[in-house]
Amino acid sequence: MSPRLATIVFLALLTAVSGVGTDEVSAQSPESANRKHSDPHDPFAQLDPWWPTPGATRIASGAPGPAYWQQRADYEIDVTLDDDQQQINGVVKIRYHNQSPHTLPYLWIQLDQNRFRQGSDALETTTAPSLSPRISFGAMKSILASRRFDGGYRIASVTDGADKPLRHTDIGTMMRIDLSTPIAPGEQTEVAIEYSYKIVDAKVIRARGGKEYFEDDKNYIYEIAQWFPRVAAYTDFGAWQHKSFLGRGEFTLELGNYRVRITVPSEMVVASTGTLQNPDQVLTDQWKQRLAKAEQAPTPVFIITPEEAEANESVRTETTKTWEFDATNVRDFAFAASRKFIWDALGVKVGSQTVMAMSYYPNEAEPLWSQYSTEAIAHTLEVYGRYSFEYPYPVAISVNGPVYGMEYPMICFNGPRPEDDGTYSKATKYGLISVVIHEVGHNFFPMIVNSDERQWTWMDEGLNTFLQYLAEQEWEEDYPSRRGDPEKITGYMRGNNQRPIMTGSEEILQFGNNAYGKPATALNILRETILGRESFDFAFREYARRWKFKRPTPSDFFRTMEDASGVDLDWFWRGWFYGTDHVDIAIDDVQLYKIDSGDPDEQAERTRQEKDREEDTITKDRNQGMRRRIDWQPGLKDFYNSPEYDEWKVEEEDRKSFQKFLDGLSSQERAILRRTTNFYIVDFRNVGGLVMPILIRVHYADNTSEMMTFPAQIWRSNSKRVSKLIVTDKEIVRLELDPKRQTADVDEGNNHWPDKMVPSRFKLFKDEKKKNPMQKAADDQNDDPKQDAEDESSDEKAEQEPAKGK
Ligand SMILES: [Zn+2]
Repeated sequence: MSPRLATIVFLALLTAVSGVGTDEVSAQSPESANRKHSDPHDPFAQLDPWWPTPGATRIASGAPGPAYWQQRADYEIDVTLDDDQQQINGVVKIRYHNQSPHTLPYLWIQLDQNRFRQGSDALETTTAPSLSPRISFGAMKSILASRRFDGGYRIASVTDGADKPLRHTDIGTMMRIDLSTPIAPGEQTEVAIEYSYKIVDAKVIRARGGKEYFEDDKNYIYEIAQWFPRVAAYTDFGAWQHKSFLGRGEFTLELGNYRVRITVPSEMVVASTGTLQNPDQVLTDQWKQRLAKAEQAPTPVFIITPEEAEANESVRTETTKTWEFDATNVRDFAFAASRKFIWDALGVKVGSQTVMAMSYYPNEAEPLWSQYSTEAIAHTLEVYGRYSFEYPYPVAISVNGPVYGMEYPMICFNGPRPEDDGTYSKATKYGLISVVIHEVGHNFFPMIVNSDERQWTWMDEGLNTFLQYLAEQEWEEDYPSRRGDPEKITGYMRGNNQRPIMTGSEEILQFGNNAYGKPATALNILRETILGRESFDFAFREYARRWKFKRPTPSDFFRTMEDASGVDLDWFWRGWFYGTDHVDIAIDDVQLYKIDSGDPDEQAERTRQEKDREEDTITKDRNQGMRRRIDWQPGLKDFYNSPEYDEWKVEEEDRKSFQKFLDGLSSQERAILRRTTNFYIVDFRNVGGLVMPILIRVHYADNTSEMMTFPAQIWRSNSKRVSKLIVTDKEIVRLELDPKRQTADVDEGNNHWPDKMVPSRFKLFKDEKKKNPMQKAADDQNDDPKQDAEDESSDEKAEQEPAKGK
């Protein structure tokens, strides 16, 4: 197919070109001033009306301002893990520092365990699952168990620093403690809470921490999280964050220092946030020697070997040990404990310090875990450090247990395990590496860049999934990343049942795609296609560094990315983060124009050639050789039938007038007139609604090609249709939109000119005839040889199927 060809009169072209210029000038002055707030459908309208007005705490660049403040909470906790009752008993002392300019009469405390209490908002607002036509045993067990489990905190006492009881009111997963004296700005207060709760079976009820029971050796793995009353966040932008915990919107917490004493059966091994304070009391000499060796080793070293862990499974001493940990500048604290733990470690150089990357897992996790877990931790610290800031904590831990993937400062819980026979699928292997990268990565977002997870899931999950993708691609070539590549998100983007990324954590539809996949892809597109790697990386790092150990909000992220990249990205945030449109740009039409010099001789010659090239009509074809009247009746021919008559003959007058036109032109203008340049006008249509740059590969008749990029602002006057002029001396034979699949364009079918046929295949099948009851009865009576043959063939089929794990 070739473009619609048209010639243009030279003067008309000149007018058109200069016209564009003047139109633009006049269009910009009166309109753009109004446009800022006027057209809600303008994809380039600024987002300032939707964002908080900058002030002294958060400035217009997206950075913390001179009056920035945040609260601080230090914790001292004594906790006992009761292995017989699978229960936590603890006393937590919270020293709360009011660094806000406000006086606070009460504190709000998060009681996350109350989510499991009968009658909780989490349980009562869970809508019906689909039961028909079938439901898994696992899902059924979970439904039954969650209605039976005696969960939730039992608060024994709430007192102030002087042991005086304080009035407190439970409201769902929150508790208000009324202080005897309001805390003035700059003051601090202390509260102590004595509490206990039953540990949930995280293998049955979906939870972010809990227990897992191993029938064979009668042991538990405990992953203990959200295990103490934690003070809610009080912020400059939202005051108390006391939204109820429904299970999905995670946490927002205050940074502070922790001292935690964990008492467990003596033979249990504890993995925890923080630095161990009493190694001499809880570690063997051999473990300490191996730890010292691991610090300098090139690959992970066993601190507890698989054999030692297996031997430890049957030990029951009936005594306890207390493990004491300190953690500085963390927003939370978690730990794990079991008799079953293998323990390996590797020292990772991060700047001037050595971080201990460590993994804890049972023999059931082998051989996968000793090969990949700790290496994946080390890889994460290295890659994330490059894109944000150096990992500031002394340890980074990955624990295998009942939770598939959950993060806390310095420690995370990861679920993937091989089959019982030690073999594993590709999905399990990469699932493990990916989940370790992801959960360790959460140390950066949101453990250190302390965004409000209860309100905005994407601020940590989206950013983290983006960096996870970069880290995965640095692990090995063609790493099977689930998210990050634009083409992976097109199915979701095209579909229904969506809400914008800027949706509250609990109200999101299609959680994984909305809060993980789409923002990760958007950032990847921003990096590869909109800003370029260097500029994006600079801006992203600037965001991470500005908000390290501080509390960013969405506008702080958006503003910082623009401030540091020097590019107005409001259209991008609007389209990708505030909307649900998708990307689908189509090539509608291509027209070719050439300069018509106006030379009457050339014009006549061109017309003659066009006439000659024109195919005969069917009637003319069939009338070939027909005897016409004029041929046999004399006297019908005149001048117009004679060879002297030339229909296209150029008159001298026309030549003179053309010469006069030429005489009036400068030599430069005459040169332009002689050009044989092709002027292609390509019409694009924005079918999906989301404005994006137009990336087009132009193929020429001489077998060369070139990439052209038209920034998204090409859509600024009309976001539905635009035309672009391509001026070339070559002949264009083919156009391809987004050939490198950079923009998440959901339909490749309209990305080609001329249209491209996409071949497909279909299968043939044969109806299988089932035996009727009479035939089956006959089969049962006589030992039918045909039946034997069928049995054999089905045996064969069974053997060919991959062996199931035993
Ligand atoms: Zn996550």
